[in-house]
Amino acid sequence: MTSNAAISITGLNKSFGTTSVLKDISLDIAPGERVVVIGPSGTGKSTLLRCLNYLDRPDSGTIRMGDLTVDPATASRSDILALRRRTSFVFQNYALFANKTARENITQALITVKGQSKADALARADETLRETGLADKADSYPAALSGGQQQRVGIGRAMALDADLMLFDEPTSALDPEWVGEVLDLMRRVAEKRQTMLIVTHEMQFAREIADRIIFMSDGQIIEQGKPEKLLESPDDPRTQSFLRRVA
Ligand code: ADP
Ligand code: MG
Repeated sequence: MTSNAAISITGLNKSFGTTSVLKDISLDIAPGERVVVIGPSGTGKSTLLRCLNYLDRPDSGTIRMGDLTVDPATASRSDILALRRRTSFVFQNYALFANKTARENITQALITVKGQSKADALARADETLRETGLADKADSYPAALSGGQQQRVGIGRAMALDADLMLFDEPTSALDPEWVGEVLDLMRRVAEKRQTMLIVTHEMQFAREIADRIIFMSDGQIIEQGKPEKLLESPDDPRTQSFLRRVA
């Protein structure tokens, strides 16, 4: 285990009822590393991301980020808040507040997660809206935005938090095809800043282009991982081979 990892995950387990969904996952991600997770649906990819942010509480396992160590046996509310300040989440279905404007969706996160003053949150929100090309949509409610614009607000909200690790859970899979490109373009721009990213996606071309490392997950376990060209072109495990044949 490297001590200078952006995040170091050891022995993560999670069950729902009698179903074991994550089975002893260990994973280190280096600062600035872009890691893509692929795998069949129902395999635990979303649960893994959700456990890293304690949206789902793991049953066991340790998450270390810098000087912060979070373990479900001992985690206090303040540990969990600290973890959430260091990890930001981009959801498949955007998860915007319908009754808040684009700007308010971002300021709300900065105020609740980071405890920022309203003035600081507003300044950061407007900066982020410019960065995401949405300055003219600041006062629009989600219903008045395209799917692509809503997801760009979702990504902007996560960017504004300046988290050590950004988690993306299939950020383009709810989008009409016409909006996928603009969302992937924004993610490329985030990646260019050497932001540490953990991305679940089925966009294989994008994964190949952006990932430093691709992880294949199946049945709650990391089956195989490696550089994109190796994992996508000559995977070792028959489960990876079979998955890639199906999605190709
Ligand atoms: P993936 O993202 O790879 O498609 P998920 O992490 O969403 O997989 O789900 C993995 C398994 O955990 C699935 O069998 C799913 O039904 C189950 N699961 C996920 N969340 C819950 C929950 N809140 N309650 C019960 N079962 C869940
Ligand atoms: Mg999922």
